[in-house]
Amino acid sequence: MDDNKLVIKTQILVLGAGIGGCIAALALAPFYSVVLVDLHAIPKERVGECMAPAAGRILHKLRLLELLNAGHLTSHGLLSYWGTETPTVVDQLVNPDGHGWHLDRQLFEQQLRDVAQMRGVSCLWPARFVKSEQKQDGWCVELQHNAQRTEVHCELVIDATGRHSSFARALGQSRQNFDQQLSVWLTAAVKVRKHISVLSSVSVGWWYSAPLPKLPFDRALQAQADLTGTAIQARLFALQIQASQLDKHLSQCSRSFLQAAAEAPGLGTLVQQIIPGTEQLHAVVAANSSKLSQGSGEGWFAIGDAALSFDPLSSQGIFNAMATAIQLADLLIEHGLHYHKTSALYQAQLDSIWQHYLAHKKRFYELVE
Ligand SMILES: Cc1cc2nc3c(=O)[nH]c(=O)nc-3n(C[C@H](O)[C@H](O)[C@H](O)COP(=O)(O)OP(=O)(O)OC[C@H]3O[C@@H](n4cnc5c(N)ncnc54)[C@H](O)[C@@H]3O)c2cc1C
Repeated sequence: MDDNKLVIKTQILVLGAGIGGCIAALALAPFYSVVLVDLHAIPKERVGECMAPAAGRILHKLRLLELLNAGHLTSHGLLSYWGTETPTVVDQLVNPDGHGWHLDRQLFEQQLRDVAQMRGVSCLWPARFVKSEQKQDGWCVELQHNAQRTEVHCELVIDATGRHSSFARALGQSRQNFDQQLSVWLTAAVKVRKHISVLSSVSVGWWYSAPLPKLPFDRALQAQADLTGTAIQARLFALQIQASQLDKHLSQCSRSFLQAAAEAPGLGTLVQQIIPGTEQLHAVVAANSSKLSQGSGEGWFAIGDAALSFDPLSSQGIFNAMATAIQLADLLIEHGLHYHKTSALYQAQLDSIWQHYLAHKKRFYELVE
């Protein structure tokens, strides 16, 4: 008997309090006891993510839409130089769901965590998933919570740990990678307020630039601009490129990176408007399409990136995290936690999303081949 061990009993354990995990916890909390766990006490800073307009439907259903009233920017569309030197305007005006959002991602996740706590979800962070053991009546999941070993006894586990798929991988599930795309990104302050995003294909990959709700790592400059009323804007510049094509200068030297950006159709003027000294080149991150070999099994389900990770070109990763969370929650609410067909029903939904995504992605990339 370990006296230091904390034991928690719950019906559902959600591992990962990113957007997918929080949405699952919020959807399920009115019906079941839910414990939500994350590695980080405060959500990690992540910039430049645009949430698709359709996400508004899910947020509305969960009474969360007002979270977007402050701290985030609306996204009305983009200028697309996809295989062309002249732009095509992709305007959300024609989208039945209206506009999307340029999220302050850290703020949004914190907002979701706060609401989850207010609505009765038991939250545990910082806590790391260590191992699990399947029992006759559910799971015994071991976590490292601060310095304390914690055991969660639950009926069902939702893996929402993002691309790590920590829980599923520990069960022996593998992840299939469909390409080796990386994202190299830089943030900077620019001397314009141009609210539109830019998408631009080049021979080695594609560029994306979008306004940011705030300068992620230079709050002093933002505050100074607010004070003086200067028209500056925080912006992201990102290059998506296959690992084999990446020249190390691009990922290590902001000057080389911006020189390459300036040559991409539609980006030259924006690059010229960068305020010198505000450029920050960030770590290279994986941005490939990948999926779990099996997104569910007896007593466990993977949602969001843990199940399926999309190319950022689709701009649908966040929506997918929310949608898979809601689809799973709907099944669990309708059929209970132990219906023997839920795993197969959910897997069929994941397979359908993935097939649709692959077909769409292929058509889109064919336009620039
Ligand atoms: C470069 C790039 C740009 C992108 N741009 C966009 C975009 O513009 N629009 C869009 O919709 N999507 C975009 N995406 C995709 C989007 O970021 C993801 O699809 C989305 O974050 C998935 O959410 P999630 O909740 O499933 O996973 P995550 O956001 O990855 O959350 C996982 C959570 O699990 C926690 N965790 C991990 N391991 C453990 C563990 N062992 N124990 C406990 N907790 C753990 C993490 O701390 C994290 O909080 C982009 C992705 C990349 C790489």
